[in-house]
Amino acid sequence: MYDVIIVGAGAAGLTAAVYTCRKKLNTAILSIDVGGQTNLTNHIENYPGTGPMSGPELMQRFQNEAIGFGAEIIMGKANKVDKTEKGFKVGLANGEEYECKALILAYGKVPRSLGIENEEKFFGRGVSTCVTCDAPLYKNRETAVIGGGNSAVEGALELATIAKKVYLVHRRDTFRADEITVEKLKNNPNIELVLNSVGTKVIGDKNVDGMEVENMATKDRRTLKVDGIFIEIGYVVDTSFVQHLVKVNDKKEIIVDERGNTSHPGIFAAGDITPVPYKQTVIAAGDGSKAALECYRWLTGGKGAILDW
Ligand SMILES: Cc1cc2nc3c(=O)[nH]c(=O)nc-3n(C[C@H](O)[C@H](O)[C@H](O)COP(=O)(O)OP(=O)(O)OC[C@H]3O[C@@H](n4cnc5c(N)ncnc54)[C@H](O)[C@@H]3O)c2cc1C
Repeated sequence: MYDVIIVGAGAAGLTAAVYTCRKKLNTAILSIDVGGQTNLTNHIENYPGTGPMSGPELMQRFQNEAIGFGAEIIMGKANKVDKTEKGFKVGLANGEEYECKALILAYGKVPRSLGIENEEKFFGRGVSTCVTCDAPLYKNRETAVIGGGNSAVEGALELATIAKKVYLVHRRDTFRADEITVEKLKNNPNIELVLNSVGTKVIGDKNVDGMEVENMATKDRRTLKVDGIFIEIGYVVDTSFVQHLVKVNDKKEIIVDERGNTSHPGIFAAGDITPVPYKQTVIAAGDGSKAALECYRWLTGGKGAILDW
C-alpha cells in the first residue's frame, strides 16, 4: 500500500513525486515511459533556470531528482482504477495491481492513432509517432509521414534531411501549417505529396515494408514502398478508465480546481490531462507541485501543508 500513486512520469508526474517524497509520502509512479511529451523535443529553451537543452536531457534531470528523493518508478500502462475500502487500486495492462491511499493522475496526452490494420502490431518496429526521436533510424531509406498540421509538415521536412524519400500523406489538398513552411515542403525534391489520401493498411512481415493508401475521391489504392511510417496527427487525452470516478469536460480532460482537486476526494490531477491552458512543460511541472501539496494536505486531514506564506 503506497501513500500515493502517481500515474504518468512526465513533467507533472515527476514534479509531483519530488514534492510527495519530500513530504515523506511513500510514492510510486506508474508510467508507460519516463519523460513524456517533453522527450519529443530536441531543443527546449523555455524551461527557466536550466538553459537550452534537449527534452530528454531535461527529463532525465526530473527523473534523477524524483528517484533521488525516493520515488519508485514502475513501468506499465494503467488501464483500470477502482475505489477500495482504504483508497484506490490501479491496474496495469500487464495484469499487475497496486494500491494507494491517494492518487495523482498526471498521464498527459497520447499520440492519436489512425486505427488501421497492423498499425499497433508494427508500433516501434517501423511505425512511430515521433519524427524527432526516430528519424535517425531512416538514413537513406524511404519513409511516409501521415498528417497535415504543423507537426506533420515540420516532421516531413526534418525527415527529408535524413531519409532518401518522404511521402507526405494528407487527407486534404491544403495544409494547416504556416505558409512559409508549406512552401519549403513543396520545393523539397525529397518529398512527394500524396494528397486527398488516407493510409488504409500497414504492410509488412517482421518489419514495415510499405503502406497502402487510398485516394478519397477516386477510391484508387496504391502501395507506398516504405520502411518507416510516422503518424503525426496530434494528441488526445484518454480518460476512459477514470471517468467513473472523476468529472471530465467535453474534451474528456479531467476537471480540477486551482489546487488540483478533482471531483473525487483523494484523487488529484495535474498537467496536460487537465483543462489547464497553455500546455507547456513548466506549467505541467507547476501543476504537479500543487497537486502533490494538496494531496499531502488531504492525507493529513487538512493540517499538513501551509496554504500561503
Ligand atoms: C513535439 C512537442 C514539442 C514540445 N515542445 C515544448 C517546448 O519546447 N516547451 C514546452 O514548455 N512544452 C513543449 N511541449 C509541451 C510539453 O511537452 C507538455 O505540455 C508537457 O510534456 C506536459 O507534461 P505532462 O506531465 O502533463 O504530460 P506528458 O508529458 O504527456 O507525460 C505523461 C506521462 O504519462 C504516461 N502515460 C500516458 N498514458 C498512461 C497510462 N495509461 N498509464 C501510465 N502512464 C501513462 C506517458 O508515458 C508519460 O510519461 C511540446 C510537446 C510536444 C508534443
